[in-house]
Order: sequence, then C-alpha cells, then structure tokens
Amino acid sequence: MSETDTRTTEEMSRRPGRERGRDDGKFGRYGGQYVPEALMPAIEELADAYERYVLNNEDGFMDEFRERLADFGGRPTPLQRADRLSERYDTEVYLKREDLLHGGAHKLNNALGQVLLAKYMGKERIIAETGAGQHGTATAMAAAHLDMPCTIYMGERDINRQRPNVFRMKLNGSEVKPVTTGRGTLKEAISETMRDWAETVEDTHYVIGSIVGPHPFPVMVRDFQAVISEEAREQAIEKTGGLPTDVVACAGGGSNTMGTFADFVDDESVALHAVEAGGSTLEVDEEEGVAPNSASLYTGDEGVLHGARTKLLQDSDGQIMESHSISSGLDYAGVGPELAYLVDEGRVDPVAVDDDAALEGFHRLSNTEGIIPALETAHAFGYLEEHHEELGERVVVNVSGRGDKDLDAAIEETDQRDVANAPDMSMFTGGM
Ligand SMILES: *Cc1c(COP(=O)(O)O)cnc(C)c1O
Repeated sequence: MSETDTRTTEEMSRRPGRERGRDDGKFGRYGGQYVPEALMPAIEELADAYERYVLNNEDGFMDEFRERLADFGGRPTPLQRADRLSERYDTEVYLKREDLLHGGAHKLNNALGQVLLAKYMGKERIIAETGAGQHGTATAMAAAHLDMPCTIYMGERDINRQRPNVFRMKLNGSEVKPVTTGRGTLKEAISETMRDWAETVEDTHYVIGSIVGPHPFPVMVRDFQAVISEEAREQAIEKTGGLPTDVVACAGGGSNTMGTFADFVDDESVALHAVEAGGSTLEVDEEEGVAPNSASLYTGDEGVLHGARTKLLQDSDGQIMESHSISSGLDYAGVGPELAYLVDEGRVDPVAVDDDAALEGFHRLSNTEGIIPALETAHAFGYLEEHHEELGERVVVNVSGRGDKDLDAAIEETDQRDVANAPDMSMFTGGM
C-alpha cells in the first residue's frame, strides 16, 4: 500500500470484487460444501472465524496479517515494467513480481493468512497436504514463523521426486508424513489429510493451498491472495496513470489467478486471461482415463471434487482423470469454483498453453528480462508470445514464482525438445 493510502484494512477487505461467494460459498452453480458429516463442525467453525477475523478485522487480525506480510514476507512486491518484452510485443508489459515474495512464490500469502487465523482461533496444530512440495514448504515456513507444530502429508512417490522441498519442510521444523496408499501422489495425500482432520478438528487447522475445497476455503484463500491485485491495481494507476487493458495469470487451482484478478473483476474495461496447462495436447484418451493436460477451465465438465462443485477433468462415467503438465504446480484435475463461474459468465477468458510453448516462455522471460520464472508462471509468458497481438496496449502479467525449483526439470525438458530460443545446452550431455 502506498503511503498516501488512507483506507483502513477493513475498507480494503470490503472491496466489491470480493463480495462474491462470501455468504454461502456459492458461485452460481459452483462451490458449496460437499464434505462428510464429521467435518461439518470444523467447516462451520472456520466460516465463522473467517467472518469475524478476516471480514470484520476482529482483534486486529487483518492488521497483524498485513504487518507480517510486510516484515516476514517482504510485501509490497514491485510492479515492474518489462522493457524488452514491451518492445518485442509492441505493448506495455508490466510484471507483478510475486517471485520476490519470501519463499519465491505467491503461496506464502495464503499459508501465512491461514496459520495466523488458526492461531486466532486457538488451534494448536497445523496440517496440510502437498504434491510437488511448494504449498507444504510455504505452510512449513509460516508455521515456523508463528511457532505452530505442523505436519505435512505427502505421497511417497512425490517425496522421492521432490527431495529439496522435503528437506526445506523438515528444516523449518515440520513433520513430513509419507502416504503410501494408491499411487503415492497428491490425491492420496489429500485423503489422508482429510482423515487426520476429521479426527483432530478440535485443536487442528487444515491449510488448503488454493481457492479449492469446501466453503469457506475458496473465498478465504482468494481474500488472502487478493493483496496481489490490491497492490497491482494501485501500482498500475500510479505508474501508468490508468488501469491495464489486460491482466494475465497462470491457473492450476487458481489462487494466484484469483488473487491477481480479484480487484479488477469489477473494472469492466480490463480483460482477464487465465492461462492453463495445455500439456502435450488437449485431446483426451478416455480409455486410458488420462488427460494429457490440466485445462479444466478450458475443456472440463461440471462435477464435484474435494468438497466443491466445479469444472473438472473427468471421463463420461464421471471418473476423475489423471492430469498432466510440464509444471507440477498446474497439474491438477480441478480448479477453483469462482474461476469456473467467472468463465461461464464470460468475465474470465480461459486459455491453454502447451508444454512446448510454456518452455519457450520460460526461456523468453529468462533471456530477455533476467528473471527465471517457475514453469507454472512460464505458461503466462507462453501465452504472451502466442497471443500478444490480441491484447490491448497495457498488460499486467503475474510472475507467480521464481524458477530455481525447476532448473533440473528445465534442463531435462529443454534437452528433449527443439526450443528455438533456448541456450546451447550441449555441455550437459553425457555425465550430468
Ligand atoms: C502452486 C503454484 C501455482 C499454481 O497454483 P494456483 O493456486 O493456481 O496459483 C502457480 N505458480 C506457482 C509459482 C506455484 O508455486
């Protein structure tokens, strides 16, 4: 927030773009609370706490949240003009630098908000589940910062694939519990965390990592992430004298997406583009039960997943399909109910960018601007490369995270392809 901003935190959190879904978690036909009976008391307690502390700033909760986001997280993050990209695309390109937030991605905004809320609720223990480990790492950081014991469930296969993140969580004092059922990935880890929560609701809070799950998670996570658009909107006006014509963000579950869109939703002149992972192709192999992409907004059908009605990748029998993306953070078969609604309303433009184009975006931002993005974020830049001619004269792109975590994957993926704008990687062949 700029120094001249005299609005109180209460006024800020009462912005019209954030009213949607607050009362009952309904976004048109989407959202809701599809949970087992045993979890209803926990969900209701959380909805009550959300209203008191987040919406009404009881006990100064939002003030403390903002102060910790500044001091621990490093907010506000800059809105930076991308000089070379602006020239290349003949349009003003501005980058919202969430990669500079503590932890290297937007995820801390939500993790810090929820762990702090758990503290205000008198909870004594944090649990979360994680796939690639990014949300687990952000939650472990927030839990260490706020001195809360924390357990992270993670599929065994993911643990073996993501050793640095497992180490990060442990370094921050969290317990990492391997989940060995099923395929040992995120899906099983979610079930295990739900089971834990059902037994421990009295003293435990479950930190969900995106704008998914039963009400109040989608509205609560959006409100914690909305600080991105709150800052970006103000910074854009300050730096350029007006609103952007377009706002672009990648979408997995959609938390950085809704966080970047939230305060622009009511600005009708601003086009909002949600960039999903198009994977290797948008064609689906029903027989195999596999979608070689994660484009649930673009190609999905209505169904219920993880406690909410939303758009999903499912086969004709309603079975959830396995998804795919070059970036683990976008590799999810569902999407937040609010985004599903905004797409149906025509307010958000859903677009898909495939693995190849995302990798090109990864190299493009790196070699033109000196910023190595996460592979998730790279999809937004793949979109810019392919569709800049359809955009207006002033574009804000959310840089949801930095790419340090993806360097091994980027080396491997670049090696397997003919990426026009990639550097010579031949030094890696043989032995590395
Ligand atoms: C986790 C992650 C995403 C995807 O999550 P959303 O909830 O869709 O924002 C995107 N970018 C980065 C850098 C991530 O770590």
